[in-house]
Amino acid sequence: MNSLGHFIRKHVAPGLGIFLGRSRYSLFDQILNHECLSQPNISMLESVSLKGLLLNAKQHVPFYSELLSSYTLPDFEAPYDILHRLPISTKHDLQKQYENMISISVPRRDLLAIHTGGSTGKPLSFLVDRQFLEKRRAANMRNLTWGGWTPGEPIAMFWGAEHELGAKPTYLSKLKTSLTGWHLINSHQYDHSLIRSWIGYLVDNNIKFVYGYSSVIYNIARYQRRHGTQLPKMKAIFTTAETLFPHYRQLIEDTFQCKVYNQYGSREVPSISAECEKGNMHILSDMVHAEFMHGSRNDNIYRIILTSFINHSFPFIRYDIEDLGLPKAGDCSCGRIFPLMEITIGRARDHMVKPDGQIIHPSYFSGLLYGAAGIMSYQFRQIDHRRIVLFIVPDDSKSVHYSALEELRARIQRELSWEVSLDIQQVDHIPTPSSGKHRYVVSDLSLEEIF
Ligand SMILES: [Zn+2]
Repeated sequence: MNSLGHFIRKHVAPGLGIFLGRSRYSLFDQILNHECLSQPNISMLESVSLKGLLLNAKQHVPFYSELLSSYTLPDFEAPYDILHRLPISTKHDLQKQYENMISISVPRRDLLAIHTGGSTGKPLSFLVDRQFLEKRRAANMRNLTWGGWTPGEPIAMFWGAEHELGAKPTYLSKLKTSLTGWHLINSHQYDHSLIRSWIGYLVDNNIKFVYGYSSVIYNIARYQRRHGTQLPKMKAIFTTAETLFPHYRQLIEDTFQCKVYNQYGSREVPSISAECEKGNMHILSDMVHAEFMHGSRNDNIYRIILTSFINHSFPFIRYDIEDLGLPKAGDCSCGRIFPLMEITIGRARDHMVKPDGQIIHPSYFSGLLYGAAGIMSYQFRQIDHRRIVLFIVPDDSKSVHYSALEELRARIQRELSWEVSLDIQQVDHIPTPSSGKHRYVVSDLSLEEIF
């Protein structure tokens, strides 16, 4: 039955997907072939992608039409020269110029709005087209093959963004899981009993690959260590979205008896880099162009500036993602020609803990402010089991809807069954911790209290 299931997922599901207009499977084959290209050919591919992005921006994106107006077609034969003369865009810049960043070549009804808390606590809204979503999925599938996964093999995806998962499994979502092998598991809120049921689910469904937030997988490993629950032997674990601390990696690899493959990407710029079987992080340079810019105070710390090739409808060109990293010299013995990097200080997050021991994933709180207007930055801080403070830094528009924010208290109480107070405080700035990374959700409680 397992091999029949695999056959259906490998051959029938892609056919059905293509029938439904999904191009992810053909895109997947295409970008998988990029790994076989020679260095000159991959450089050519990147250059052509950049040229296409800039030309489209000049023709269709008002913000760039003006900036690129003096360049003519022959100039675009040297696209990197043009790119490096363009300004760096922060999240704040993109929000200020929101309307001017949207391509006029795509009907607005064909674009999907995405809102994110971002890793740095600054809300960001942007638009994507269907092609972006297909390329994002195809790139994600390729990253998974680096850990030995092949399309159709069951994989569990622990995800905390509840709005992306739907409230409860439906007949259709179950059918989708059967056909694709992707088992989406909502981990935005969990406790010991749920972790126990997840482990049972992995065993029952013969799942050998796991993908998800580092902290969630780490907490499953910690639970197993404490309670000795039998775990299935995995083939690979893929961690993403959060900092993978060395002790996280060590415990996860020891517990699941397989290698951890770390990945780095974001909602606005997916698939930035991925770890190969030799333990190196490769920049996925057919998807993104990465620049590393010196900080003013520390020569060893670089800001990561990204230009994404896959969103022409709302381009991210020289985008300051507010993460820090390092370029890494040399080649990798895995043979892939994609350049190397290191993430020195990734994204740090924290969790909140309810009096009954339930852990609330930070994405729940960032989700509460999706689409909220007038906010430059924010931070939810758990003071104790009964009190949360929400710090708000308004942006220039000063149009924060505090009455709407006041309703969040009741929403948290209702959705999480948590009798907690929420004090909203407007501040001028939120102090940055010594790590250099802003944390948009911080708990003063220690996870050690329950794990
Ligand atoms: Zn490698």
